[in-house]
Amino acid sequence: MADIKELIDRLYETASLTPDELKAVLSTDEYDEYLHEKAREVAVRTFGKDIYLRGIIEFSNYCKNDCYYCGIRAGNTHCERYRMTVDDIIRCADSGYETGFRTFVLQSGEDLTYKTEDICRMVRTIKENHPDCAVTLSIGEKSREEYQAYFDAGCDRYLLRHETYNSEHYKMLHPNKMSWLNRIRCLHDLKDIGYQTGCGIMVGTPGQTLDHIVEDLVFMKEFDPHMIGIGPFLPAANTPFADCPRGDTELTLRLLSVIRLMLPKVLLPATTALGSAEANGREKGVLAGANVIMPNLSPVENRGKYQLYDGKICISDDAALCSRCITARLASIGYRAVTGRGDHPDYC
Ligand code: SF4
Repeated sequence: MADIKELIDRLYETASLTPDELKAVLSTDEYDEYLHEKAREVAVRTFGKDIYLRGIIEFSNYCKNDCYYCGIRAGNTHCERYRMTVDDIIRCADSGYETGFRTFVLQSGEDLTYKTEDICRMVRTIKENHPDCAVTLSIGEKSREEYQAYFDAGCDRYLLRHETYNSEHYKMLHPNKMSWLNRIRCLHDLKDIGYQTGCGIMVGTPGQTLDHIVEDLVFMKEFDPHMIGIGPFLPAANTPFADCPRGDTELTLRLLSVIRLMLPKVLLPATTALGSAEANGREKGVLAGANVIMPNLSPVENRGKYQLYDGKICISDDAALCSRCITARLASIGYRAVTGRGDHPDYC
């Protein structure tokens, strides 16, 4: 096999490598600096030095599911639950708009209290109030009809991490009643309906191997999503994985760079999990090729309760403060925070 530097060069030039070659690139930290530099070059060529800010509103931490890694899983009796009303969610988006945000990510556990018409009303009203904004939903697995209804109400994007493309690994992370096939079906439906669609994984989940990550990369290349969410696995208290080790942030950054080279136009967040795992994690993510950051717009009183993992950052600052902090952090590494819609280049 060619040496790693040659593989990185070929990935840069052709956006493609074989599975074995991808594994070789992910296996060593020796060329991390070079890999990040190439990924950064591609990101800057596509997006300039603009980093898109998305305001995230975590509107309910109720969930019917029991994913083993998640702090708000149904079985966690220590989790203090909250649920915002549709009107409160709309007001939260209004105030985010005043702060300057033009993309809202509405996220929750799989909370069946909200009916299809509730979700449609929140999407439709936010879009009517702010026609220049994009709305992203991240509310889990739904039927095709429900996805179609949200889309018809004006929803632009949908995030649904696939978690792992290996069905056996999926079973290690989820109870039997959750279906890997259904998750993948959801992603295909979303893309087919016309959403800007996001998938993604955590790095370092229990049982994950480099081969699994390579399977994820092969899937991502073929599925060609508009967004990819990648963060390190961080354990959450009172979950079956509470005592498992954290995911490796260096590998997370390497993976961000590989994804940027494989899919130059993809919207790639430097995730809050990355920023929680290490100081300046989000800045490092940007320097590894990420081009999106998602500050928290949720009411401060709820933020500490939406703990998908322990040690989450930004749970006490209000939206305006978060926005200023991120803008300054990005400026310190030579990038510019922008609050426009920030669509995938193919949607502009
Ligand atoms: S990861 Fe999502 S679906 Fe799974 S328990 Fe947590 S909120 Fe629910």
